[in-house]
Amino acid sequence: MERSSQKMRIVIVGGVAGGMSAATRLRRLNENAEIIVLEKGPYVSFANCGLPYYVSGEIEKRGSLLVQTPESLRGRFLLDVRPYNEVISIDSAKKEVLVKNKDGEYTLSYDKLILSPGAKPFIPNTPGLKEAKNVFSMRNIPDVDGVTEFITSNHPAKAVVIGAGFIGLEMAESLKHRGLDVTVVEMAPQVLPPFDSEMAAFVQEELEKNGIHVLSGIAARAFHEDGKIVELENGEKLQSDLTIMSVGVLPENALAESAGIKLGMRGGILVDENYETSVKDIYAVGDAIVVKNTVTGGDTMIALANPANRQGRQVADIISGVARKNKGSLGTAIVRVFDRTAASTGLNERQLKATGKEFKAVHITANQHAGYFPGAASIFMKLIFDPKTGEIYGAQAVGNEGVDKRIDIISTAIKGNLSVMDLMELEFTYAPPFGSAKDPVNMIGYAATNIVEGFSDNIQWYELEGKRNEGAFLLDVREPSEVKRGIIDGFINIPLNDLRERLNEVPKDKTVIVSCQSGQRSYMAERILKQHGYKAFNLDGAYNIYSRAKKEEIIKNV
Ligand SMILES: Cc1cc2nc3c(=O)[nH]c(=O)nc-3n(C[C@H](O)[C@H](O)[C@H](O)COP(=O)(O)OP(=O)(O)OC[C@H]3O[C@@H](n4cnc5c(N)ncnc54)[C@H](O)[C@@H]3O)c2cc1C
Repeated sequence: MERSSQKMRIVIVGGVAGGMSAATRLRRLNENAEIIVLEKGPYVSFANCGLPYYVSGEIEKRGSLLVQTPESLRGRFLLDVRPYNEVISIDSAKKEVLVKNKDGEYTLSYDKLILSPGAKPFIPNTPGLKEAKNVFSMRNIPDVDGVTEFITSNHPAKAVVIGAGFIGLEMAESLKHRGLDVTVVEMAPQVLPPFDSEMAAFVQEELEKNGIHVLSGIAARAFHEDGKIVELENGEKLQSDLTIMSVGVLPENALAESAGIKLGMRGGILVDENYETSVKDIYAVGDAIVVKNTVTGGDTMIALANPANRQGRQVADIISGVARKNKGSLGTAIVRVFDRTAASTGLNERQLKATGKEFKAVHITANQHAGYFPGAASIFMKLIFDPKTGEIYGAQAVGNEGVDKRIDIISTAIKGNLSVMDLMELEFTYAPPFGSAKDPVNMIGYAATNIVEGFSDNIQWYELEGKRNEGAFLLDVREPSEVKRGIIDGFINIPLNDLRERLNEVPKDKTVIVSCQSGQRSYMAERILKQHGYKAFNLDGAYNIYSRAKKEEIIKNV
């Protein structure tokens, strides 16, 4: 296609989060540029994050998912937006792309090319999957149309969701709302693999409470009868009228690869701090690129909407000559699972162990607002940090309300290079309906600072076994009425208020591990013991965390 003018022409591949953020920002900065957005699918600027909520019926109108149209984008931003136009190759020497649409193929030259092709669902090579007629993945409007039409015409009763990540769990909840009997199958030993297992256990609890069957630590190994039977690795066969495949995503990298652009980890497109790929004047953003992890500085891939939108805007700035840098991403994420919310930022313990960094973790249980104000509910929070410097590595939280606020604050703290000591200093809005005079973020800052400053030592739930085997004295300082509901095997109960008088019952020659319900009273007990010359450790998160992490395995009801 011939150039109509000598205006700078910027061609964008992919018309959703990253691509459209780039296009609209480019227009705001360059009234004269020619901006062409090529999208292979039927829609641009649609709300992919909203798709599961349309399945559930919470988003009632399909049109609500279509945030912009080519016409509205032309009207407001003078963008040339072309749905059903797939870029099939790039000739970087000629600075041209080859585009295919319903009328055939055409070439289009560019001065700058931005790739924001996103990520596609990973579809495993499982026998019988290709023949299955009731298996869907969830990426775009045609996918959601496929699922909703299938439900309307076939009235499925049983659903299997394979993969318990964010999209899998959102779909499980949505299908349950539609009245299906839902089973979630996850290969990892826990749901929500980006979380540490003891935090994910709260989410599993919520799924089960709402009637979702959860099978973790097992994969699907075959599909039979056109997909109506899902066979698991252990030979178990699940009946499925509708299956959602949500086992992760892969960068949509074929176009970049065929253009000779360098790829990195997991096939992600490599870019520099200006989002420029290894080929001059070709830039890339969004789910398809490799980014620097804010905490480690190492390579990572993060398929989330906030980074994609930010990167789209930033690449537009850079192309327009504004000083801006790709500073990497933290992977701050959130999911609602029925009445619970789970959110995380930064690194989890598994990722930290892989880096070899020394770290400590603290768990707290705190209310989202003043405990005496109606509706108070617990937030279970975890903070991971450097025990020497207090640098924050990551955080996770699960609760009913207020989880987003706390994780957003900690994510901001990480981006601002604040330490756990700084969390104590943060000042929040407070009135009883909204928070507490000591916000959970302050509280977790206190707990972590106590570790950094040597006032407290803790062990994690998975370290208890080792301490028990070493002969540690296990002390539970809850009230007898609480202990009646369950106590961890081997713990002796001395309520906190009696501890000073009953210190003679605690052997001085043994390490003492103290537990309670949430870890707060056990911390107080630890302080009493330490000041009486004991070597004491707090069981971090105490019964709340341990009982979930280990389930009923070694909890005795007494
Ligand atoms: C069901 C679902 C729920 C989600 N929920 C959340 C959430 O709650 N929170 C969150 O942070 N993130 C969520 N995400 C992730 C978020 O949507 C993505 O991170 C974000 O959209 C990535 O933006 P992108 O521009 O990189 O890719 P996309 O938004 O996927 O856009 C890429 C577009 O490029 C097009 N394309 C690819 N190749 C070509 C080509 N050769 N020619 C032309 N067009 C091409 C594709 O058709 C696609 O439309 C969700 C994703 C899905 C699928």
